[in-house]
Amino acid sequence: MANEFVKKINDDTGVNINLCYQCKTCSLSCPFASVMDILPHQVIRKLQTGEENELLESTTIWHCGTCETCVTRCPNKIDIPRVMDYLRQTALQKKVAYGDKKVTAFHKAFINSIRQWGRQYELGMLLEFKIRSRDYFSDIPLGISMMLKRKLPFLPERIKGKNEVKDMFNSLDKKSGI
Ligand code: SF4
Ligand code: SF4
Repeated sequence: MANEFVKKINDDTGVNINLCYQCKTCSLSCPFASVMDILPHQVIRKLQTGEENELLESTTIWHCGTCETCVTRCPNKIDIPRVMDYLRQTALQKKVAYGDKKVTAFHKAFINSIRQWGRQYELGMLLEFKIRSRDYFSDIPLGISMMLKRKLPFLPERIKGKNEVKDMFNSLDKKSGI
């Protein structure tokens, strides 16, 4: 059973988690380790032993900032951020509830912004996040201050290939069933 799961992770992500020999370099390097309930090296171990449900319910998959420090320092170049992405998508697909709804609201708003504009449109993303999380009034002074400093443009930036990005998301949706 665990072997089948390892094969599935390998097939779906292209990451060979069997190469991990638990040196813990990833966890010692991770800047988000202090807020994770399962450390990165433990995530890989749990994948090897087929403990999928525990991982899908963990805070770790939502707290990983995809900074890539772990994969850069891993002696076997195991792409942990890619695995974390896969686990987040699987949790959404299987509708596994995460305690703090703001976290999943932010994730959805972030992904939708890239899907729609081909890159991040911060103001649009923040508005969607506020609506999804129903947290309308916190951070208003910070938002105004950022706008005054031109850190939050009113309009999205136009990029080439916007439609191709959208097509890519649509084809992934069909595959994953989200
Ligand atoms: S750094 Fe690489 S080999 Fe070491 S525990 Fe982390 S994933 Fe495994
Ligand atoms: S990519 Fe995620 S797991 Fe890896 S170091 Fe960054 S925050 Fe930690």
